[in-house]
Order: sequence, then C-alpha cells, then structure tokens
Amino acid sequence: MKEFDIIAQYFKPRSHVRRDVQLGIGDDCAIVNVPQNQSLAVTTDTLVSGVHFPENTPPRAIAHKAVAVNLSDLAAMGAEPAWISLSLAMPNVDEQWLDEFSLGMQELTEYYSVQLIGGDTVKGPLSITLTAQGFVPKDQALTRAKAKPGDWLYVTGTLGDAGLGLDMLQGKMDVPPKHRNFVANRLNYPTPRVLVGTMLRRIASSCIDISDGLIADLRHIMQASNCGAILQVDKLPLSEAMRDSVAGEQALRYALTAGDDYELLFSVSEEQKGNLDLAMTTASVSVTCIGQLNGVQGKLELRDGKERYAFEGQGYQHFS
Ligand code: ADP
Ligand code: MG
Repeated sequence: MKEFDIIAQYFKPRSHVRRDVQLGIGDDCAIVNVPQNQSLAVTTDTLVSGVHFPENTPPRAIAHKAVAVNLSDLAAMGAEPAWISLSLAMPNVDEQWLDEFSLGMQELTEYYSVQLIGGDTVKGPLSITLTAQGFVPKDQALTRAKAKPGDWLYVTGTLGDAGLGLDMLQGKMDVPPKHRNFVANRLNYPTPRVLVGTMLRRIASSCIDISDGLIADLRHIMQASNCGAILQVDKLPLSEAMRDSVAGEQALRYALTAGDDYELLFSVSEEQKGNLDLAMTTASVSVTCIGQLNGVQGKLELRDGKERYAFEGQGYQHFS
C-alpha cells in the first residue's frame, strides 16, 4: 500500500468537513480561512512510541491521545480548535493498525468539529506528530504570563489519575477492579478541556494545561508571571479511584507530580471569582480552588491546612 492509498483509504474519507477549509487533503498545501477579528493559535506535539506511550498501546488510544494533547494546548490558550495536520512515521504498513488509528482520530475530530487538512506519511520508527490550529478572538488568548499576586489558582477535574493509570498498566500499582477502567482511560483517552478553555477567556488571568505535573506546570505560570505561590495540598481534587487505591501521601504525590492529566490550571483575580462561579455552573466539569499566587517570586510553598507540607519532588522532566 502506497502513501497515496493510505491517505485515500484511511484519512481523507474519515475527516470531518468544515466550511472554512477551501482545500483540504490532496494538494501541496491546504487552503483555509481564518475568521475576521480572530487570531490563529497553533501548536505541535509529537508522540514517540516507547517514550510517550507504551509500545502495546491500542492504536485507537494513540490517535485519541495525539489529538487530545494538541486540543488541550489550544484549550489552555482559550482557543477553539479548527484544523489539524498529521505527520505519521511508521515502520511498516499495518492496515489493521491504520484502520483503528484513523477511526480513533475520526472519533475525536468529529466530536470537536475539527478537520484533518493535511500531513505527511513516512517510513520510520512509530511516531505521531500533530499540529493543531484554532481561533481565539484578538487579544483574548490566555497565556502563562499575565497572572498577578493575589490571583487564585484553580484546576479542572481531578489530578494524578493518568499517572496512577500508567503505574497500574506497568504492574507497579494495584488498583481495585472497579476503578481499573477509569484510571486506564484517564491515561489513554484524556479529555481536552476545550469548552472550559474558551469560557475562561475573559475570566482567567493565566492558564496552562497540566501535561508535566501540577508542580512543574504551576512553576511555568509562576516564572512567566513573576509570582510565587501557596498550594493547599488538602484542597487538591482527587478521584474516588485515587482515594480508594493509594494512601493519602502517595495520592498527593501523584496529584502534585504525575503528568498526562491534561486538566487546566488557571488563575483568577478576586474580582473575577464571581464570574468564574457563574460560568462554571453551565460547564460539565468541576473546578477547584487549590491555592493563591503571591509576590514572592519563584517560591512555591505547599501547605496542608495551615501547616507547611514538606515535599521533595518535581514534575516530569524530559531530558533528566
Ligand atoms: P507532498 O509530496 O506534496 O508533500 P504528499 O504525497 O506527502 O504530498 O501528500 C499528499 C497529500 O496528502 C497532501 O495534501 C498531504 O497534506 C496529505 N497527507 C499526507 N499524509 C497525510 C496524513 N498522514 N494525514 C493526512 N493527510 C496527509
Ligand atoms: Mg509528503
């Protein structure tokens, strides 16, 4: 099977169709139209087999994750996803793999009305590079850099589940049978918080998606915004699966340092708190206040209630 046939059979017919795409897959470039008064948000992520997912990960999960992590980056900027491009390297043409992979892509792209507009297909060790593009009204993009001392810190959903899922699948952790599906799905089928991201546009002062772990990603906001922070570990949202599977201290370690949750971490000024509460009544995802930024540049203090919480640990570092 040649590159052209792979695209014609698996990718082109399974792509959602949008009206703002003048020319999709098939020519040298795609031609797309950005709406007036909107900026284009662009992001790329690569998933390498054996590094970003275990080699035996189902192709549907790999596709889901590749799309989800890119849409999560758009969500973190308050952007509404529109188009993706796929660069696929694979060691050989495995039609069943391609079938399941492309169906996985189709599921998520249909759900979010995203069109696959092009890509590249090459032979090589299995790796998936995806570029996603989306719209955000001019000057409304959420960044890491505009948080202020005094702003409150929030996260969506629950923390640490994907890390627990990875350890479970690798045989390092026991999870009660009734929670096994949940934590495996949190790892393999993360939910990009697209709607929440767009709702935060005029409300949040900064936003980031948690891909490397809460502490590591909070530090990115602190650094970009020249702030310090106090994090209340007693407030961290933990799933029932997490609470039933591991003891308190280890649950906190997952919540603080495990990557791959793709929840949003964002800051909200005191004045915007009411608007946040109002906006979140219509969102289907929970948000939890977990701490506050301050002016002590670069210092992150963890607290359990009023006590200091001693913790040595970092988020996932790609090159260490
Ligand atoms: P070129 O050689 O001009 O780069 P290709 O033969 O690589 O063209 O690709 C032909 C068309 O198929 C292009 O429109 C390209 O964007 C698209 N394409 C190639 N691979 C993929 C893929 N994995 N997913 C989606 N579109 C793809
Ligand atoms: Mg090509």
